[in-house]
Amino acid sequence: MENNKSSGDKSSLKPIRCKAAVCRKAGEPLVMEEILVAPPQPHEVRIRIICTALCHSDITFWKLQVPPACFPRILGHEAIGVVESVGESVTEVVVGDTVLPTFMADCGDCVDCKSPKSNLCSRLPFKVSPWMPRYENSSRFTDLNGNTLFHFLNVSSFSEYTVLDVAHVVKIDSSIPPSRACLLSCGVSTGVGAAWKTAQVEQGSTVVIFGLGSIGLAVAEGARLCGASRIIGVDINPTKFEVGQKFGITEFVNSMTCENKRVSEVINEMTGGGADYCFECVGSSSLVQEAYACCRKGWGKTITLGVDKPGSEICLNSSDVLHNGKTLMGSLFGGLKAKSHIPLLLKRYMSKELELDKFVTHEMKFEDINDAFQLLLDGRCIRCVLWMG
Ligand SMILES: [Zn+2]
Ligand SMILES: [Zn+2]
Repeated sequence: MENNKSSGDKSSLKPIRCKAAVCRKAGEPLVMEEILVAPPQPHEVRIRIICTALCHSDITFWKLQVPPACFPRILGHEAIGVVESVGESVTEVVVGDTVLPTFMADCGDCVDCKSPKSNLCSRLPFKVSPWMPRYENSSRFTDLNGNTLFHFLNVSSFSEYTVLDVAHVVKIDSSIPPSRACLLSCGVSTGVGAAWKTAQVEQGSTVVIFGLGSIGLAVAEGARLCGASRIIGVDINPTKFEVGQKFGITEFVNSMTCENKRVSEVINEMTGGGADYCFECVGSSSLVQEAYACCRKGWGKTITLGVDKPGSEICLNSSDVLHNGKTLMGSLFGGLKAKSHIPLLLKRYMSKELELDKFVTHEMKFEDINDAFQLLLDGRCIRCVLWMG
């Protein structure tokens, strides 16, 4: 009997009919509908999603009315799944493997993937495209009327089945609880990686985090793991301060109540001349300036993780740059190389160093995805994990 479990005849693979939450129009509730998921092409894998979490970029692209927004689209990019079938030339994973999808590619073969200094693959460079990464104008999703549904961030996990390029999956140990492992598919990896890999925070250092959303809290977790002794959280919402304590934040600054001082002045006074590491997790170019202004001259590093509006610019005084010798760095996916660094973070979770449990504030059924969107919009959850069937 023929089945898809053998690695033999790939031409026998058929489209799968399954449920997906489709975003048909910006800002409107997702529509739970039946769709068709085509078989994987060469270098691709089709996976069954076990659970998916909501990340803030899903909300951003759900609301966005202008390009790169496009509809109808299947959002979702933080998930865990099991390989259902593989296309030609796939040798890295086999049917039944547990995998984490990642929006950043790790082809392992280009000059950047081979360098320990970068996680920015140049064979499949990061872009917000509606298509499969290796094939132009190619989608694996259609609705039951035969119309194309667009992909999102190379993952599209708000569907029971999805197709990914093999450069966008990381094989992991299947014994790790899926509702925890999935967090390393995007958000927690981005924050923890920014402290661990991009900044390389050292034991005993002072860290400032602008914005205590889920990414800022993940930076705090990373800084705590690296042994930072002071972790100062900056936010305009005082309720974030209480939450932040669980993530290792040691001091708080409410930027709304700094009287006549700029936040950077307050931080410079608190730290006697600036912090070792500043992280901007909001996505505001003026906050990047503030962060840069309160990292220490000589060795201070400012790392930007937030996404500002397309085209926004960061303004820095050139004499300040020359005289102060500080570093300003961008960090996509925390500077992590997905295939080698995610398994290391999972090991640190299993050895009870990396604390993932505290990020999961809600777990729900996939069908209740619109309620989960509302929780995130209201700022009532850090991570909501949605379980498929
Ligand atoms: Zn994300
Ligand atoms: Zn590459």
